[in-house]
Amino acid sequence: MPLLEIKKWPGHDLRQPSLPIPPSVIGTGEVQDLIEDMKSYVDRNRYQIGGLAANQLGFDYKIAVVNLDLDLQEMINPRYVKLSEQKFWGFEACLSFPRFFSFPVRRSRTITLRAFNRFGKEIELSFNGRRAIRVQHEMDHLNGISIIDIRRRARFLRENQAAII
Ligand SMILES: [Zn+2]
Repeated sequence: MPLLEIKKWPGHDLRQPSLPIPPSVIGTGEVQDLIEDMKSYVDRNRYQIGGLAANQLGFDYKIAVVNLDLDLQEMINPRYVKLSEQKFWGFEACLSFPRFFSFPVRRSRTITLRAFNRFGKEIELSFNGRRAIRVQHEMDHLNGISIIDIRRRARFLRENQAAII
């Protein structure tokens, strides 16, 4: 298996949104190998990481693998169907920002999305709590948003709310 190298800020641009994969390409060896490599990486580090997005490895494909504790879920071309209004704060760290410990991030408590699995079948997935956090973190990566961008946005919201009060 090739050694995966996690691209790290600031040397690597993580602000490029990833590109959707045509469903007919999902079954190709390149995509299947990448998914397998990503899954085994997350599996080997399942006590340390919540998931991995392909652009963290330098592949601009909309592929993420999320650690669901007892299982791993690959998501190809994921898109949100529903994000709950109800939100909560949690602390998140990121492999691409190893010098930072963790950030407080506000996320939807429950989410639903549609994606393709590795067999090219469209699936609908729902998550809540800690798993919803992990999925939203990887979705952000695929959309070119990293943890420091969220922090900046959260700070902006806090400061503006404080100003209103
Ligand atoms: Zn991350």
